[in-house]
Amino acid sequence: MSILRLTFHGGAGGQVTGSMHLLEAAGARILLDSGLFQGRRKEAYRLNATLPVDPRQLDAIVLSHAHIDHSGRLPLLVSRGFHGPIYSTAATRDLCGIMLPDSAYIQEKDAEYLARRGKKGPESEPLYTMADAVAVQELLVGIPYQRLVHLRKHLTFEFTDAGHILGSATVSMRITEDRPHRLVFSGDIGRTGLPIIRDPRPPQGPVDTLIIESTYANRMHESVHGAEDHLGDIVRRAAANGGKVLIPAFAVGRTQEIIYALHSLYRAGKIPEIPCFVDSPLAVNATDIFRLHPEIFDRREALVESSDQLFHWPMVHYVRDVSESKALNSRQGPAVIVAASGMIEAGRILHHLKNHGGDHRNVLLFVGYQAAHTLGRRILEGNREIRVFGDMMELRAEVERIDGYSAHADQNELRDWVRRLGGPVRRAFVVHGETEAGQAMAELLHEEGVEKVTIPKLGQSFDL
Ligand SMILES: [Zn+2]
Ligand SMILES: [Zn+2]
Repeated sequence: MSILRLTFHGGAGGQVTGSMHLLEAAGARILLDSGLFQGRRKEAYRLNATLPVDPRQLDAIVLSHAHIDHSGRLPLLVSRGFHGPIYSTAATRDLCGIMLPDSAYIQEKDAEYLARRGKKGPESEPLYTMADAVAVQELLVGIPYQRLVHLRKHLTFEFTDAGHILGSATVSMRITEDRPHRLVFSGDIGRTGLPIIRDPRPPQGPVDTLIIESTYANRMHESVHGAEDHLGDIVRRAAANGGKVLIPAFAVGRTQEIIYALHSLYRAGKIPEIPCFVDSPLAVNATDIFRLHPEIFDRREALVESSDQLFHWPMVHYVRDVSESKALNSRQGPAVIVAASGMIEAGRILHHLKNHGGDHRNVLLFVGYQAAHTLGRRILEGNREIRVFGDMMELRAEVERIDGYSAHADQNELRDWVRRLGGPVRRAFVVHGETEAGQAMAELLHEEGVEKVTIPKLGQSFDL
């Protein structure tokens, strides 16, 4: 019998980032995802720089979605000799075209910054260059959902919609050598009712091996509909006070959902006619990519059905130029400003916070996860004396948060996804979750009748 083996090289053993799993099947070596480890600089650098597989020995890469914790090591693999096909959906391919160069740019800027402060070391070197990031684009092959792809004799796969971000996919593989085997890799699982994109659609039928994410297996979220009403309330109240709403948001995905929600509230007459600024060049580019892929929008949503200009209405303004962005500093009257970065660690949101954060009429609104040790997290924890660009300031704007825009399924939604597979699951591997979340997911799978559940450690291999 030939080898049928799975090895977990990232997003394993309590880790969320660095998603990378090697499947050896039907005589081929296939990598599922090639994500970047994120977190403490030295440790992340060590994990990222030492590739656990020889890129020249790989036959293909199958990519679940464009988030950097799933795609961010592709340029490194290509720079070290990978030249096979990288399969993803067309939207994922296009998003990689802006996200990977952005990742290279951030690494180059970080390296310059550390060099200036005399902190030059091996881990301050960029992992790859802008040219490496662009080289990935030549290898990416866009595949529609539910289209069978023959990787080689006895090995096929297809994508189904994961409902997580634009283009996100669940991978369903069939190995027909010796005995038939079906392997499902969930990717990151999204939520029912998220704006713009369709709901998760688990592949149907019995599963021999399931690799499943567990990010929020131990939590529940506010509903998506609740989130839009909540956003409407906050904007109305700030506008009535003559204040601004500052929204730090990740440029790809979250920003488009917020724009869409504001448009939808505007059309329904639920927010007043105040200008909404999207102040981030990356977000402007990402919005263009959303516009290119209406074929995968959720046609059941009223706004998708009734408007072919989801991201345009008279009150929205997209800001690319630095001078235009600066003009917002002295702007009077109510407005909404959406800017990156999502955790207020960098980007134009810092300028807006510096210029508008001291005014009690304004609102600082969090719509995404705030990781430990970020300025966003410190503010959420109640800190009001904050450091912005090296100067201390008092944050007098009101602080609000909305949890309903999370792109990850919560416990109930994960359970529902497993149930909707429809067939028995013989064996499951739990990945992409901190320790407690992984354990909650393992428990959930046992409750749903999966007999053999494993939380793999980093580097661990299993014969299937
Ligand atoms: Zn993701
Ligand atoms: Zn992820």
